[in-house]
Amino acid sequence: MSTSTSPRGITTVRLPPADDLSVPFARTEICAEAREAARVVLESGWVTTGPQAQAFEDEFAEYVGARHAVAVSSCTAALELVLRGMRLPPGGVVLVPDLTFCGAAQAVLHAGLRPLLVDVEPATGMPSAATVSRAVRAFGRPEAMMAMHYGGAPAPLRELGEAAGLPPYRVVEDAAHALGTHLGARPVGALTRAACFSFYATKNLPIGEGGMITTDDDDLAGHCRRARLHGMSTDAWRRHLPGGSWQYSVEEAGLKANMTDLQAAIGRAQLRHLPGWQQRRAHLAARYTARLREVPGLVLPEPPTDGLHAWHLYVVRVRPGYPLRRNRLVLRLAELGIGSSVHFIPLHRLGYLRRTALRPPEGLPGADALFPELLSLPLHPGLTEAQVDRVCAALADLGKAPS
Ligand SMILES: *Cc1c(COP(=O)(O)O)cnc(C)c1O
Repeated sequence: MSTSTSPRGITTVRLPPADDLSVPFARTEICAEAREAARVVLESGWVTTGPQAQAFEDEFAEYVGARHAVAVSSCTAALELVLRGMRLPPGGVVLVPDLTFCGAAQAVLHAGLRPLLVDVEPATGMPSAATVSRAVRAFGRPEAMMAMHYGGAPAPLRELGEAAGLPPYRVVEDAAHALGTHLGARPVGALTRAACFSFYATKNLPIGEGGMITTDDDDLAGHCRRARLHGMSTDAWRRHLPGGSWQYSVEEAGLKANMTDLQAAIGRAQLRHLPGWQQRRAHLAARYTARLREVPGLVLPEPPTDGLHAWHLYVVRVRPGYPLRRNRLVLRLAELGIGSSVHFIPLHRLGYLRRTALRPPEGLPGADALFPELLSLPLHPGLTEAQVDRVCAALADLGKAPS
């Protein structure tokens, strides 16, 4: 990392130049149109939530086939807003996959509810009807369930809901990996009570930070629209429109979790590139699979039999048949300039959540078995075929010699 200051006093922080041989795990691509759109907003005199946020919501809702989209500051805030809007009894139990991002469980806690961690199947990284049934057996019927499409693979929503004894309107999707995921012919967006998307720097539609709630439920959408901005009945943009009034009321508790027009303008421009980026991700994932198939000891992600994978992540399992354990492999790849990551540390292994989340009495053996094997390889639209081939060659080489 280096910094430099221009004659006008602008200090710039630069990432180290990627040399030709290194393969970073992630790189945020902000297209030229998004940079231009951001400049126009900055010069417009209106930078917070306003016309850009509204247009982004309309375009996003259409993209995922939902009646409503509500733009917010993050996926974590989106999950909390939806859970609050479902008006579940305080302290109610919400099923959460053990193998997910910590923010998902924290959203449950902040909504005044109790996360019950559900074990995952090593083959998919996701809960199954069997693991949901086991969790529910110990604690009784939960109030709601959070489903997560791990890596972008479609989660079996219907089976999971049935195993939990919950109808679709008691299910909320953590769709942070699932922009582009389809179950059968239908995109993730309006399959359950609500879906929550992330525009974090590494996600499939990066803005830097940001989130979106999509739903067909008019009341829930109205709640989220108010509750993202202090519970106010009307936002600043509407108050300042011609004919608008300075008056507003506050009828419920709210967060400060609105999306700025600066973010929304970037998101709108990025959204136009998304179909191409999704194709690119699928192409690169297929290339990994073709080149890694013969490497003994690596288990590769399976494309779904019914639906579409969004290929947010390409996660391999480093099985005992591979000569290096995952932690050693991460270090050896880093020495070769190849970035990788682990998604995720199971929630029950994170101190605060270990203390606050409920767990099935028999533990979470699936997540415990899978966690030491998980390795996420670089996958983003800017990755070249040559870089994928370099990663595959390194994995094949390190997989040959016992070391
Ligand atoms: C990234 C991520 C989140 C959180 O998204 P933010 O927009 O950073 O709040 C939640 N769940 C999963 C599975 C994620 O990967």
